[in-house]
Amino acid sequence: MEKIKMTTPLVEMDGDEMTRILWQMIKDELLLPYIDLKTEYYDLGLEHRNETNDQVTVDSANATKKYGVAVKCATITPNAARMDEYHLKEMYKSPNGTIRAMLDGTVFRAPIVVKGIEPCVKNWKKPITLARHAYGDVYKNTEMIIPGPGKVELVYTAQDGTETRELVHNYTGPGIAQGMHNLNASIESFARSCFNYALDTKQDLWFATKDTISKKYDHTFKDIFQEIYDAEYKEKFEAAGIEYFYTLIDDAVARVMKAEGGFIWACKNYDGDVMSDMVSSAFGSLAMMTSVLVSPHGYFEYEAAHGTVQRHYYKHLKGEETSTNSVATIFAWTGALRKRGELDGISELCDFADRLERATLGTIESGKMTKDLALITSIPNPTVLNSKDFILAIKEELDK
Ligand code: NAP
Ligand code: MG
Repeated sequence: MEKIKMTTPLVEMDGDEMTRILWQMIKDELLLPYIDLKTEYYDLGLEHRNETNDQVTVDSANATKKYGVAVKCATITPNAARMDEYHLKEMYKSPNGTIRAMLDGTVFRAPIVVKGIEPCVKNWKKPITLARHAYGDVYKNTEMIIPGPGKVELVYTAQDGTETRELVHNYTGPGIAQGMHNLNASIESFARSCFNYALDTKQDLWFATKDTISKKYDHTFKDIFQEIYDAEYKEKFEAAGIEYFYTLIDDAVARVMKAEGGFIWACKNYDGDVMSDMVSSAFGSLAMMTSVLVSPHGYFEYEAAHGTVQRHYYKHLKGEETSTNSVATIFAWTGALRKRGELDGISELCDFADRLERATLGTIESGKMTKDLALITSIPNPTVLNSKDFILAIKEELDK
């Protein structure tokens, strides 16, 4: 069989620990035999980040700007323990944070839905993709403990020195106060990323804030989304047969619980933090969750939502057998290959991505799965496979 040709390289960001092991297995068994795989390789493994003073992370993000599509393996975000373990020169920032800041993107997280792994919410038939605004609000706040009577004000000093004041509260006793901010430019990027991703995946987009209570702050989010939608996306949405829908956050929460899924839920920073954990755990497993960073300029970076699965890696190092789920990492590759195929007009690449996804889901549906899924599946008597054998079972399904 002739291998599928590629014209533009994918930006390949290798990573750490168990996911680095899976990464190589996926390439060797599921990709290289079928595709004349073109990648520009960046080793984001912690050792190499340390050798390059983290320059490799910056280079990989710049390459993503050049080529448009990247696929990333999970990476260690250093903490004190990692400083010793890897003899780090400094406590480097999270690679995901660095890349996200450079691409100005929004992260979309979607569960991989498969028969046999049922969501806790029984009417959720299709995935719910969660988009979290990743800038500002309570995550960049300023707080004050108010010791006793007195007044707290917000003061804006313009560049010419003029001051505008708003009373927060006249305290008659002790209390607390909090100031937070956001930026129109950041909200605009968030909105464009959401609209682009909705068009890209042909799904409705829901957005919700508390604009009835927060008449300036949250209302600005609502207005920016609406203005950009009307000016740039309305016609495209209508042509694609999808809808942009704004509602209040409490109404959105109630509707989500009753919905059947198949839409994107855009959330402000805090709502997204809280709701993404609820949605992902209700869908079953972190190992079945994909993540894609979409920039407002149209760059895409695909990855699994889980980390490097450190505990399994230490077992692997001791020569013990592991049963680590590679599904989300496989779907990172298929997402990136399909996007590359779309951009370069290589339909064989898109077809291959579809087939590999079907083979992966088909393997699970036939009862063959890793331990994490075997623990939660509704399929009777599942066969538990180790990390390598699960990938080989997918290959067998793919070759059928
Ligand atoms: P983790 O790697 O997501 O793993 C936490 C636990 O979840 C595992 O111990 C395992 O449970 C289960 N799990 C996660 N993925 C699995 C998979 N594919 N198959 C089977 N089980 C899976 O989180 P962590 O252990 O907290 O973090 C490890 C490292 O990953 C950290 O250094 C962190 O900085 C990094 N991290 C990276 C990213 C990223 O690059 N996007 C995201 C998160 C964390 P059991 O042990 O019970 O089997
Ligand atoms: Mg959270």
